[in-house]
Amino acid sequence: MQTGSIRIRHRHTWPTRGLTALLATTLVLASCGVDDGVVDAAVGLPTSTSDSPSPGDTTDDTAELDIPLDTAPGRTETTVDTDTSGTAVIPTAVTSVPESAGAWGEVIVLIESFWDENFAAFAGSGTFTPLDRDRIVAVEDATTDLPDCDFAQIGTVDVEDNALAAACSEGQLIVWDDDDLFAELFQDFGTTGPTVVLAHEMGHAVQYQAGALRNSTLVVEQQADCLAGAYAAWATDRRISPFDSAAALDSAVGATVSFRDHPGASAAASDAHGSGFDRVRAFQDGFDRGVGYCGQYGDIGLPITEFPFQDQEDADTGGNLDFEALIDLVNPYFDALFATRHNEWPGMTISEEQLDGWRNAHAQIGDNATGTAMALMFAKRLQILEGAQSEGEGALLQQACLAGAAFAPLIFEDAELTPLAGLSLSPGDMDEAVLTMIRIVETNQDRLDDGFLFEAVAALRTGFTQGFDSCGI
Ligand SMILES: [Zn+2]
Repeated sequence: MQTGSIRIRHRHTWPTRGLTALLATTLVLASCGVDDGVVDAAVGLPTSTSDSPSPGDTTDDTAELDIPLDTAPGRTETTVDTDTSGTAVIPTAVTSVPESAGAWGEVIVLIESFWDENFAAFAGSGTFTPLDRDRIVAVEDATTDLPDCDFAQIGTVDVEDNALAAACSEGQLIVWDDDDLFAELFQDFGTTGPTVVLAHEMGHAVQYQAGALRNSTLVVEQQADCLAGAYAAWATDRRISPFDSAAALDSAVGATVSFRDHPGASAAASDAHGSGFDRVRAFQDGFDRGVGYCGQYGDIGLPITEFPFQDQEDADTGGNLDFEALIDLVNPYFDALFATRHNEWPGMTISEEQLDGWRNAHAQIGDNATGTAMALMFAKRLQILEGAQSEGEGALLQQACLAGAAFAPLIFEDAELTPLAGLSLSPGDMDEAVLTMIRIVETNQDRLDDGFLFEAVAALRTGFTQGFDSCGI
């Protein structure tokens, strides 16, 4: 248990309240379900309102957040040992399979092998100490013998629909709800879902061993997501299942978003884990940059997009504008915005057919489903006007980047565009953008390569944090 506070500087006004002193106790990965069902079309939109953030909104404990503008280096595949046939050699297990982990024992062993190799790169020095085998427990039903923590048995209620890691006087432990949570994750995301959760929880065990729990809850949780991403990269390089297929990276995006905090949650909350948009960024940071970068999470000023609703009215609507109102506000905003990118911008007309296609997504995902669909459509028009490629996966990634750039002025104060828009992003809007990308990829699965979603969400974030010029057009 510890306390810590963070105060971060930034160069944009950010509509969030502060990050106050936080308390990290037992480390919990809360779970929430993902949206089910299939929406037939791409998209929906950003929230409204005339009360876009102003510098006067800041209060004593307001944290100013910094979006690092450096370009992520991208991942370079590491050299791994191979056998004579060129097949990657899976490292020798450094631990025995924990019987109490049920079906996930082998995954635990692999994650511990990863930490056996990488602990010092995260912690600066030292070695990883595997957990006692009987303290890694898949809780299957009421008959499962729950371990003690600090002289009291872990409660069933703590484990229900949850996974957690804790440092107890009896030794570290990792337990999870195998019957509900993991069964559901397996059904929705295959082996990737539970694997990502286990890598996250083992990340907490490593943080404890490294003395890296002095940060806020949010930073600790995002760092665990980052460490899970680093494991995914290590497993990818070694062709270790499920990461021997790029499809696992797409599933990891879906699983990570499914754990998001609910829109309007405060980044300062004692149980904050992050918005879906931020949690995917953390996972991708670890995947691209490795455990050494995750280790800097307490110092670099994470680009957090989690902030509360500005008023009760926004909270009541979930920050979602009515479909027609949204179209009326966003269409002229995008027109004006894209006109700044091309001086012969012709304006965009939206057909009845397109509107029909967007309505369902708007209702199911939220209003930024419409916004994302529109932004992608505008982006494609810009590509055509610029003579750029507008079809194929590369063009789609560029469209995702341009869509992210189109949202940025709605949250970062922009002297020219913000008054024009009369709009601002509401809590959850960037999660809705990611959910829309997921829906688009699901709908077009047979035309897209495995791993496309993973790249598309990264491209969306690049445009959002670094602007149009980062999109190569
Ligand atoms: Zn956690």
